[in-house]
Amino acid sequence: MPVAFSDPIWRKPKAVPAFQSGLSSGGTLDAVIVGGGIMGLSTALHAARAGLSVQVLDAGAIGQGASGLNGGQVIPGLKYDPEWLLRHFGKERGEALVEFTAATADAVFDLIRNEKLAVPFTRNGWIQAAHTETALTAAANRDRQWRSRGADVELLDRAGIAAMTGARGYLGGWLDRRAGVIDPLSYTLELARVASAAGASIAEQQRVVKLSKEAGVWRVSTQSGTELRAKAVVLATNAYTDGLLPGLAQTIVPLHSFQIATAPLPADLAATILPGGQAVSDSRRILIYYRRSPDGRMVLGGRGRMALPSRAADWAHCERALIRLYPALAGVAVEKRWFGRVALTPDHLPHLHEPEKGLLAVVGCQGRGVGLMSALGRRMANYLASGDAGQLPFPLSPIRPIPFHAFRQVGVAAAITWYRMLDAFER
Ligand SMILES: Cc1cc2nc3c(=O)[nH]c(=O)nc-3n(C[C@H](O)[C@H](O)[C@H](O)COP(=O)(O)OP(=O)(O)OC[C@H]3O[C@@H](n4cnc5c(N)ncnc54)[C@H](O)[C@@H]3O)c2cc1C
Repeated sequence: MPVAFSDPIWRKPKAVPAFQSGLSSGGTLDAVIVGGGIMGLSTALHAARAGLSVQVLDAGAIGQGASGLNGGQVIPGLKYDPEWLLRHFGKERGEALVEFTAATADAVFDLIRNEKLAVPFTRNGWIQAAHTETALTAAANRDRQWRSRGADVELLDRAGIAAMTGARGYLGGWLDRRAGVIDPLSYTLELARVASAAGASIAEQQRVVKLSKEAGVWRVSTQSGTELRAKAVVLATNAYTDGLLPGLAQTIVPLHSFQIATAPLPADLAATILPGGQAVSDSRRILIYYRRSPDGRMVLGGRGRMALPSRAADWAHCERALIRLYPALAGVAVEKRWFGRVALTPDHLPHLHEPEKGLLAVVGCQGRGVGLMSALGRRMANYLASGDAGQLPFPLSPIRPIPFHAFRQVGVAAAITWYRMLDAFER
């Protein structure tokens, strides 16, 4: 079997402590949180601040999941626009959801500012770049909906987007100034630090292997043989969900997202490529996303194969996309290549489940989870503290495995190939 290689640009600062709280098997905790990514840590931070006793357990190191590997684009909103959310969820929940999603980027930047997190960031917006007339019409529609709600957004014409991105081939786009970029690994580790300082216990290398319930109390067993007791368990395992809760992994389609980073750009190129430091995602069916890193590299990501990558050539599609946008980067070395998992749901919405009282699960961030999971963690903590399901922005839904899940991956791979071909025709 080939060995997967992955060499992320984001580096753990030397000063970060190992998170190795002792696991106390006496007493009953208010909550055990399985998964130490942004979702689990944000829940832990806010739950601890609300006075709950909380233990976070992660199967590996903090930040080893999507939270420490992602592109660091902090984007508010969902895939769906406000009017769709109102139609789909009805006026009351729809409005509440629009309000919640409008503020998911604030959740990140407020936390960085208020908690004085050591996280490199720039908050100059995110551009959704349109490469077809259809995408441009959709951008205009999105712009109208958010602008009427007072959001700081702007429709860009061909010249406007060319000036902001320096990229070739876009007809226009949409700038959302609520968004920005961060170093995602620093953010995740800093979240863990403040959650721990607030009183949450966090333990790495503690895979949870069994959940059971006795006399209304949850028993959480780890691979190392410890058993914890808790009133509530939150599964914050997202795209890395295993078989812990039967059926949960079958409700999502986990996909790989691959990323590359060039060497730091020379000054003449740096002056013309994203000089304002915005993040960009484009409108292709198989979208690519890109940004500059704090140390001046160009970072670009896109969908990758499901088989584990084993050589640099497995990222060739990302390099081709980069040169298509920026031919001047042809001579600049690609120095870093890495990948992680994102979780899609069939309706492209995050799913919240509570199959039994006190057993909660959150999955399906559709590749836009940095802001979403930061904000959702706070709401989850409110729910744990109050028992009021109205605190949750999305309704709790039953666990519904995707029919023929085992074959779904094959279908997705075929769809990706097909969509890539359609995208190529539209260049
Ligand atoms: C390459 C890539 C690029 C992305 N780019 C962006 C972006 O630019 N902007 C954006 O908003 N989103 C982006 N995303 C999505 C974003 O990273 C995720 O939505 C978000 O990090 C999910 O956070 P999480 O806490 O829910 O899950 P994760 O961070 O994946 O954490 C889940 C954790 O659960 C642990 N776990 C699993 N099973 C067990 C078990 N049995 N016991 C204990 N622990 C367990 C895992 O070890 C893991 O640490 C990207 C994702 C990837 C992979």
